[in-house]
Amino acid sequence: MFMYVLKSARYLAQDALERAILAGDHVVDATAGNGHDTEFLCRLVGESGHVFAFDLQGDAIEATRRRLMNAGLLDRATLIHAGHEEMADYVRGEISAVVFNLGWLPGGDHAVTTRWETTRKAVAAAMDLLKEGGIITICAYPGHEEGEREKRELIAYLSTLDNRRFNVLEQRFLNAGPGAPECFIIQKMAFSG
Ligand code: SAH
Repeated sequence: MFMYVLKSARYLAQDALERAILAGDHVVDATAGNGHDTEFLCRLVGESGHVFAFDLQGDAIEATRRRLMNAGLLDRATLIHAGHEEMADYVRGEISAVVFNLGWLPGGDHAVTTRWETTRKAVAAAMDLLKEGGIITICAYPGHEEGEREKRELIAYLSTLDNRRFNVLEQRFLNAGPGAPECFIIQKMAFSG
């Protein structure tokens, strides 16, 4: 029997994505990593949808390609070996969701972590690409120094967004101790002037 469990930042993000994404949608995975989220998104968009997945590291792109190939989902995705801050150069049309899983690749090089300067550019580009009602999910990992800085700057930035245009939600597990991952959700609203 399925039981609803409040588990983790990533689970909260996936829960929101399941609600927001419809078959046929175009979506972006801004941090492909090992491709878990890319695969999840490929299933949600279905045969007629498409996923654009970015990663700076060739190894991550290769791991994602293998995962999608094994799952028979490779034709639903475009894998882009570039920084997500260049998103606007690669993605066209209306996007219904953009997924960020910040930090470094589990099992990979900890030096290649996301950084606020480029994350900010990518989140801004994602907000432009989003259609009305679309969402951005961001899992942040403040348990290491750059991750803590990135989360702090992210909160400062998201707090300034026009609340007629965007709903911005921060979710954290209050009793999970310092450095626990957090999930941010940004939704673009119909502009009401
Ligand atoms: N910490 C997460 C996983 C994050 S994976 C967890 O535990 O689940 C983050 C991925 O982002 C890595 O594969 C890394 O290569 C990638 N990345 C870092 N900077 C990037 C950038 N500017 N553009 C695209 N991908 C980037």
